[in-house]
Amino acid sequence: MGNRRNDRHTASRETFCVQGTGAIDAETGAIVPPVHITTTYEREPDNSYPKSFVYGRADNATVRSAEDVITNLEGGETTLLFGSGMAAAVSLFLALPRPAHVVAPRVMYWSLRNWLATDAGSHGLSVTFADATQPDAVRKAVRPGATKLIWIETPSNPLWSLSDIAACADIARDAGAQLAVDSTACTPVLTQPIALGADVVMHSATKYLNGHSDVLAGSLTFASGQSPLLDGASSVRGTHGAILGPFEGALLLRGMRTLFVRVERQCRTAANIASHFGSHPGISEVLYPGLVNHPQHELAKLQMGGLFGGMLSMRIKGGQQAAIDTAARLSVWKRATSLGGIESLVEHRASVEGAGSPCPPDLLRFSVGLETQDDLIDDLAEALA
Ligand SMILES: *Cc1c(COP(=O)(O)O)cnc(C)c1O
Repeated sequence: MGNRRNDRHTASRETFCVQGTGAIDAETGAIVPPVHITTTYEREPDNSYPKSFVYGRADNATVRSAEDVITNLEGGETTLLFGSGMAAAVSLFLALPRPAHVVAPRVMYWSLRNWLATDAGSHGLSVTFADATQPDAVRKAVRPGATKLIWIETPSNPLWSLSDIAACADIARDAGAQLAVDSTACTPVLTQPIALGADVVMHSATKYLNGHSDVLAGSLTFASGQSPLLDGASSVRGTHGAILGPFEGALLLRGMRTLFVRVERQCRTAANIASHFGSHPGISEVLYPGLVNHPQHELAKLQMGGLFGGMLSMRIKGGQQAAIDTAARLSVWKRATSLGGIESLVEHRASVEGAGSPCPPDLLRFSVGLETQDDLIDDLAEALA
């Protein structure tokens, strides 16, 4: 694009991310790239588009820079950004050659689970929900010849149980299927699913990647830049117009500059909160992969880069009403849905997820932000007292 990059030195992915690709604007020398808001591009007199930018639904340089950062973070070959995480995920399912069978986890992001359970059938997809914490259960759910995609989410909302990415990648390969990983909660700081054998990595970039609760976005990163699934997802994005706007692309690019420092701090604070409340008399269970009594702590140590995430859940003694009342007494923690932002959030998930949810009624989900650890601990201790 005529912009100068740091060619002499192949920067680490953290540096690439901090510098928002590191490109310097060729025309002005700007360190922060301009926001390209044009919807269309001029054709040459010979009728060609030598810069290959044609129309805004497919081509936007601001969005492409954000895609380049995510591709680099995930170690993939190509990324597509969408208007939300749901748009990214659903576009991938709609990109499958149909009819197709897919395997999905029993415990997963509820809105996508609802779509798979209620809508996917009318789009030519049949879905088997399996216990994705157990590779054997995933293998049993596969229908050789018919299964086109295995979808996992690790650690999974809101119980923070893990799936073994490398084991699921083997199962997918044996079945001639592809593996897609919703890596929203892990972020590329902790886990790079493609290095473990995944074909596609999905993020709700609304969460940690942007990190400031002010952009809805979703991404799909493909291990291969030459795959029918990539072509299909790109076509669904274009025809359905499920695109990210340039202003959101610019905000996302800015948000991602601080991804590593944010996530590392959020993980450390979450780990300290988890162990602080691990034996609190008002809590029956703390669900956090970093605790030694988490059933998959060993896998978490292998798969999460030595950190254990900024998300945790707690089961409050006294049941659903006690959990809701505890959340009501919090003031530093804000009662709101979503996760991965710089402000700490708490949510009673069962109220959100409704019938059919595997979420226990006494569970509160916590998204740890960047506030002082003591403020968060004191607020929760007072609410539990
Ligand atoms: C939020 C979320 C989604 C959906 O993303 P949106 O950007 O809200 O559409 C999908 N998966 C996970 C794990 C999420 O947390």
